[in-house]
Amino acid sequence: MYIGRFAPTPSGPLHFGSIVTAIASYLDAKSHQGKWLVKIDDIDRPRVLKGAENSILNSLELLGLEWDEKPSHQSERIEFYQYYLEALKENGHLYLCSCSRKTIHALGKSGLDGIIYNGACRNMGHTDSMKNAYRVQVNNSPLVIEDLIQGKIKQNLANDIGDFIIKRSDQIFAYQFAVVVDNYLDKLTHLCRGNDLINSLPRQRYLHQLLGFKLPICLHIPAATKQQKKLSKGHGDKISIQGNETALWVEALKFLGQPILPEYAASNIKEIIPDAIKKWSINHIPKSTSIEVDAHIHT
Ligand SMILES: [Zn+2]
Repeated sequence: MYIGRFAPTPSGPLHFGSIVTAIASYLDAKSHQGKWLVKIDDIDRPRVLKGAENSILNSLELLGLEWDEKPSHQSERIEFYQYYLEALKENGHLYLCSCSRKTIHALGKSGLDGIIYNGACRNMGHTDSMKNAYRVQVNNSPLVIEDLIQGKIKQNLANDIGDFIIKRSDQIFAYQFAVVVDNYLDKLTHLCRGNDLINSLPRQRYLHQLLGFKLPICLHIPAATKQQKKLSKGHGDKISIQGNETALWVEALKFLGQPILPEYAASNIKEIIPDAIKKWSINHIPKSTSIEVDAHIHT
Protein backbone atom coordinates (compact mmCIF):
# COMPACT_ATOMS: atom_id res chain seq x y z
CA MET A 1 0.00 0.00 0.00
CA TYR A 2 1.14 3.51 -0.86
CA ILE A 3 2.03 5.54 2.26
CA GLY A 4 2.88 9.21 1.78
CA ARG A 5 3.46 12.00 4.23
CA PHE A 6 3.72 15.72 4.84
CA ALA A 7 6.26 16.72 7.48
CA PRO A 8 6.16 20.39 8.46
CA THR A 9 8.51 22.01 10.98
CA PRO A 10 6.43 23.95 13.52
CA SER A 11 8.59 27.05 13.30
CA GLY A 12 5.85 29.24 11.86
CA PRO A 13 2.67 29.16 9.78
CA LEU A 14 2.59 27.41 6.39
CA HIS A 15 3.83 29.44 3.43
CA PHE A 16 2.91 28.89 -0.20
CA GLY A 17 5.89 26.54 -0.78
CA SER A 18 4.84 24.24 2.04
CA ILE A 19 1.21 24.31 0.88
CA VAL A 20 2.36 23.18 -2.57
CA THR A 21 4.35 20.32 -1.00
CA ALA A 22 1.40 19.31 1.18
CA ILE A 23 -0.97 19.31 -1.81
CA ALA A 24 1.48 17.39 -4.03
CA SER A 25 2.10 14.67 -1.45
CA TYR A 26 -1.65 14.45 -0.73
CA LEU A 27 -2.66 14.18 -4.39
CA ASP A 28 0.04 11.63 -5.17
CA ALA A 29 -1.04 9.47 -2.20
CA LYS A 30 -4.76 9.76 -2.95
CA SER A 31 -4.34 9.11 -6.69
CA HIS A 32 -2.69 5.82 -5.64
CA GLN A 33 -5.52 5.04 -3.16
CA GLY A 34 -2.87 5.48 -0.49
CA LYS A 35 -2.64 6.78 3.03
CA TRP A 36 -1.49 10.32 3.75
CA LEU A 37 0.26 10.99 7.07
CA VAL A 38 1.26 14.17 8.85
CA LYS A 39 4.44 14.20 10.92
CA ILE A 40 5.42 17.21 12.99
CA ASP A 41 9.19 17.74 12.67
CA ASP A 42 9.73 19.19 16.11
CA ILE A 43 13.05 17.51 16.91
CA ASP A 44 14.90 20.83 16.92
CA ARG A 45 13.15 22.21 20.00
CA PRO A 46 14.81 25.66 19.91
CA ARG A 47 13.24 26.25 16.47
CA VAL A 48 9.73 25.29 17.57
CA LEU A 49 7.39 28.24 17.80
CA LYS A 50 4.51 28.07 20.24
CA GLY A 51 1.19 27.77 18.45
CA ALA A 52 2.73 26.95 15.06
CA GLU A 53 1.66 23.30 15.10
CA ASN A 54 -1.97 24.24 15.71
CA SER A 55 -1.83 26.85 13.00
CA ILE A 56 -0.37 24.33 10.53
CA LEU A 57 -2.93 21.62 11.29
CA ASN A 58 -5.68 24.20 11.08
CA SER A 59 -4.45 25.34 7.67
CA LEU A 60 -4.33 21.77 6.38
CA GLU A 61 -7.90 21.24 7.52
CA LEU A 62 -9.07 24.46 5.88
CA LEU A 63 -7.44 23.27 2.65
CA GLY A 64 -9.34 19.98 2.86
CA LEU A 65 -6.16 17.93 3.42
CA GLU A 66 -7.32 15.24 5.81
CA TRP A 67 -4.71 13.00 7.38
CA ASP A 68 -5.42 9.26 7.74
CA GLU A 69 -3.76 8.73 11.13
CA LYS A 70 -3.21 10.90 14.17
CA PRO A 71 -0.26 13.23 13.39
CA SER A 72 3.03 11.94 14.81
CA HIS A 73 5.77 14.00 16.45
CA GLN A 74 9.52 13.59 16.25
CA SER A 75 9.70 14.73 19.89
CA GLU A 76 7.83 11.53 20.84
CA ARG A 77 10.27 9.27 19.01
CA ILE A 78 13.49 10.06 20.88
CA GLU A 79 13.85 6.51 22.23
CA PHE A 80 13.65 5.11 18.69
CA TYR A 81 16.33 7.52 17.48
CA GLN A 82 18.53 6.49 20.42
CA TYR A 83 17.93 2.80 19.67
CA TYR A 84 19.05 3.15 16.05
CA LEU A 85 21.98 5.35 17.05
CA GLU A 86 23.14 2.50 19.32
CA ALA A 87 22.74 0.08 16.40
CA LEU A 88 24.99 2.20 14.19
CA LYS A 89 27.44 2.63 17.04
CA GLU A 90 27.66 -1.12 17.68
CA ASN A 91 28.47 -1.67 14.03
CA GLY A 92 31.33 0.80 14.22
CA HIS A 93 29.85 3.43 11.91
CA LEU A 94 29.93 6.30 14.42
CA TYR A 95 32.48 8.30 16.33
CA LEU A 96 32.35 11.18 18.77
CA CYS A 97 33.54 14.60 17.70
CA SER A 98 34.61 17.35 20.08
CA CYS A 99 35.54 19.95 17.46
CA SER A 100 34.18 23.43 17.84
CA ARG A 101 32.46 25.15 14.94
CA LYS A 102 35.50 27.42 14.73
CA THR A 103 37.97 24.52 14.31
CA ILE A 104 35.74 22.84 11.73
CA HIS A 105 35.61 26.03 9.66
CA ALA A 106 39.34 26.63 10.00
CA LEU A 107 40.36 23.12 8.90
CA GLY A 108 37.69 22.04 6.44
CA LYS A 109 37.07 23.05 2.86
CA SER A 110 33.75 24.12 1.46
CA GLY A 111 31.41 21.37 0.19
CA LEU A 112 27.89 20.94 -1.18
CA ASP A 113 26.26 21.70 2.14
CA GLY A 114 28.61 23.75 4.28
CA ILE A 115 32.10 22.79 5.36
CA ILE A 116 33.40 19.27 4.71
CA TYR A 117 34.52 18.00 8.11
CA ASN A 118 38.13 16.89 7.91
CA GLY A 119 37.66 13.78 10.06
CA ALA A 120 40.03 14.98 12.79
CA CYS A 121 38.22 13.05 15.55
CA ARG A 122 37.76 9.81 13.60
CA ASN A 123 40.43 7.90 15.51
CA MET A 124 40.54 9.91 18.71
CA GLY A 125 38.34 7.60 20.76
CA HIS A 126 36.48 10.46 22.48
CA THR A 127 33.99 9.35 25.10
CA ASP A 128 30.30 10.20 25.26
CA SER A 129 30.46 13.23 27.52
CA MET A 130 27.08 14.80 26.67
CA LYS A 131 29.11 17.57 25.07
CA ASN A 132 30.36 15.75 21.99
CA ALA A 133 28.54 15.20 18.71
CA TYR A 134 28.10 11.83 16.99
CA ARG A 135 29.29 11.66 13.40
CA VAL A 136 28.80 8.87 10.91
CA GLN A 137 31.76 7.82 8.84
CA VAL A 138 31.01 8.09 5.11
CA ASN A 139 32.73 6.29 2.28
CA ASN A 140 34.36 7.38 -0.92
CA SER A 141 32.10 5.90 -3.55
CA PRO A 142 29.57 7.47 -5.89
CA LEU A 143 25.92 7.34 -4.85
CA VAL A 144 23.29 7.59 -7.56
CA ILE A 145 19.64 7.97 -6.64
CA GLU A 146 16.76 8.15 -9.08
CA ASP A 147 14.24 10.85 -8.28
CA LEU A 148 10.92 10.64 -10.15
CA ILE A 149 10.94 14.37 -10.85
CA GLN A 150 14.55 15.57 -10.62
CA GLY A 151 16.13 12.57 -12.35
CA LYS A 152 19.47 11.12 -11.27
CA ILE A 153 20.99 12.61 -8.11
CA LYS A 154 24.72 11.90 -7.83
CA GLN A 155 26.97 12.52 -4.88
CA ASN A 156 30.15 11.20 -3.37
CA LEU A 157 29.67 11.71 0.34
CA ALA A 158 33.38 11.76 1.17
CA ASN A 159 34.16 14.41 -1.46
CA ASP A 160 30.96 16.45 -1.31
CA ILE A 161 29.76 16.30 2.29
CA GLY A 162 32.18 14.60 4.71
CA ASP A 163 31.41 12.64 7.88
CA PHE A 164 28.15 14.20 9.02
CA ILE A 165 26.48 14.69 12.38
CA ILE A 166 23.66 12.45 13.49
CA LYS A 167 23.44 13.71 17.07
CA ARG A 168 24.50 17.26 17.76
CA SER A 169 26.70 18.39 20.64
CA ASP A 170 23.57 19.90 22.27
CA GLN A 171 22.29 16.26 22.27
CA ILE A 172 19.56 16.95 19.70
CA PHE A 173 19.29 14.30 16.97
CA ALA A 174 20.10 15.66 13.54
CA TYR A 175 17.28 15.99 11.04
CA GLN A 176 19.24 13.80 8.57
CA PHE A 177 19.11 10.90 10.95
CA ALA A 178 15.67 11.39 12.51
CA VAL A 179 13.96 11.48 9.13
CA VAL A 180 15.48 8.11 8.15
CA VAL A 181 14.14 6.45 11.31
CA ASP A 182 10.79 8.21 10.69
CA ASN A 183 10.59 6.79 7.17
CA TYR A 184 11.02 3.33 8.63
CA LEU A 185 8.56 3.82 11.50
CA ASP A 186 5.95 5.32 9.15
CA LYS A 187 6.49 2.50 6.59
CA LEU A 188 6.75 5.30 4.07
CA THR A 189 6.67 4.11 0.46
CA HIS A 190 6.92 7.52 -1.22
CA LEU A 191 8.95 10.49 -0.06
CA CYS A 192 7.41 13.58 -1.65
CA ARG A 193 8.89 16.88 -0.50
CA GLY A 194 10.43 20.16 -1.63
CA ASN A 195 13.52 20.20 -3.76
CA ASP A 196 15.31 22.38 -1.19
CA LEU A 197 15.92 19.10 0.69
CA ILE A 198 17.40 17.16 -2.22
CA ASN A 199 21.03 17.81 -1.26
CA SER A 200 20.43 15.81 1.89
CA LEU A 201 18.94 12.82 0.05
CA PRO A 202 22.25 10.94 -0.50
CA ARG A 203 23.03 11.21 3.23
CA GLN A 204 19.62 9.79 4.04
CA ARG A 205 20.01 7.04 1.49
CA TYR A 206 23.39 6.17 3.04
CA LEU A 207 21.82 5.93 6.51
CA HIS A 208 18.97 3.80 5.13
CA GLN A 209 21.61 1.41 3.80
CA LEU A 210 23.59 1.28 7.05
CA LEU A 211 20.40 0.53 9.01
CA GLY A 212 19.10 -1.98 6.49
CA PHE A 213 16.03 0.14 5.66
CA LYS A 214 14.61 0.44 2.17
CA LEU A 215 14.69 3.94 0.69
CA PRO A 216 11.18 5.11 -0.29
CA ILE A 217 10.53 6.17 -3.88
CA CYS A 218 11.56 9.83 -4.08
CA LEU A 219 9.77 12.81 -5.62
CA HIS A 220 11.32 16.22 -5.06
CA ILE A 221 9.00 18.91 -6.30
CA PRO A 222 10.40 22.30 -7.39
CA ALA A 223 10.96 24.71 -4.49
CA ALA A 224 8.86 27.88 -4.47
CA THR A 225 11.04 30.97 -4.62
CA LYS A 226 10.47 34.69 -4.45
CA GLN A 227 13.23 36.77 -6.06
CA GLN A 228 15.33 33.59 -6.24
CA LYS A 229 15.07 33.06 -2.50
CA LYS A 230 13.31 30.08 -1.00
CA LEU A 231 10.12 31.07 0.80
CA SER A 232 10.45 30.73 4.51
CA LYS A 233 8.24 30.82 7.55
CA GLY A 234 9.94 33.79 9.09
CA HIS A 235 10.32 36.26 6.22
CA GLY A 236 6.97 37.86 5.61
CA ASP A 237 5.81 35.03 3.35
CA LYS A 238 2.73 34.57 5.44
CA ILE A 239 -0.51 34.02 3.57
CA SER A 240 -4.08 34.03 4.73
CA ILE A 241 -5.79 30.74 4.05
CA GLN A 242 -9.27 31.25 5.40
CA GLY A 243 -11.43 32.54 2.55
CA ASN A 244 -8.67 31.91 0.00
CA GLU A 245 -8.88 28.11 -0.13
CA THR A 246 -10.03 27.91 -3.75
CA ALA A 247 -7.49 30.45 -4.99
CA LEU A 248 -4.67 28.66 -3.16
CA TRP A 249 -5.65 25.28 -4.60
CA VAL A 250 -5.75 26.76 -8.10
CA GLU A 251 -2.36 28.46 -7.62
CA ALA A 252 -0.84 25.27 -6.20
CA LEU A 253 -2.18 23.16 -9.09
CA LYS A 254 -0.85 25.74 -11.54
CA PHE A 255 2.57 25.62 -9.82
CA LEU A 256 2.52 21.82 -10.12
CA GLY A 257 1.63 21.96 -13.84
CA GLN A 258 -1.68 20.17 -13.30
CA PRO A 259 -4.73 20.77 -15.53
CA ILE A 260 -7.05 23.48 -14.23
CA LEU A 261 -10.64 23.77 -15.36
CA PRO A 262 -12.06 27.30 -15.80
CA GLU A 263 -14.92 26.38 -13.46
CA TYR A 264 -12.47 25.83 -10.56
CA ALA A 265 -12.41 29.58 -9.93
CA ALA A 266 -16.06 29.53 -8.86
CA SER A 267 -15.90 26.11 -7.19
CA ASN A 268 -15.67 24.91 -3.66
CA ILE A 269 -12.50 22.94 -2.73
CA LYS A 270 -14.76 19.94 -2.02
CA GLU A 271 -15.49 19.92 -5.76
CA ILE A 272 -11.93 20.66 -6.86
CA ILE A 273 -10.13 18.05 -4.77
CA PRO A 274 -11.72 14.86 -6.19
CA ASP A 275 -11.19 16.21 -9.70
CA ALA A 276 -7.55 17.12 -8.96
CA ILE A 277 -6.97 13.60 -7.60
CA LYS A 278 -8.43 12.09 -10.76
CA LYS A 279 -6.34 14.28 -13.06
CA TRP A 280 -3.10 14.19 -11.04
CA SER A 281 0.00 13.17 -12.94
CA ILE A 282 3.59 13.71 -11.85
CA ASN A 283 4.51 13.89 -15.54
CA HIS A 284 3.00 17.40 -15.61
CA ILE A 285 5.24 18.69 -12.80
CA PRO A 286 7.95 20.97 -14.20
CA LYS A 287 11.34 19.26 -14.00
CA SER A 288 13.03 22.29 -12.48
CA THR A 289 14.72 22.77 -9.14
CA SER A 290 12.70 25.89 -8.30
CA ILE A 291 9.87 28.06 -9.61
CA GLU A 292 9.29 31.75 -8.96
CA VAL A 293 5.85 32.43 -7.53
CA ASP A 294 3.75 35.48 -8.28
CA ALA A 295 4.03 38.21 -5.70
CA HIS A 296 0.28 38.33 -5.09
CA ILE A 297 0.14 34.80 -3.68
CA HIS A 298 2.01 35.47 -0.48
CA THR A 299 1.19 38.96 0.56
ZN1 LIG B 1 35.97 16.52 15.61
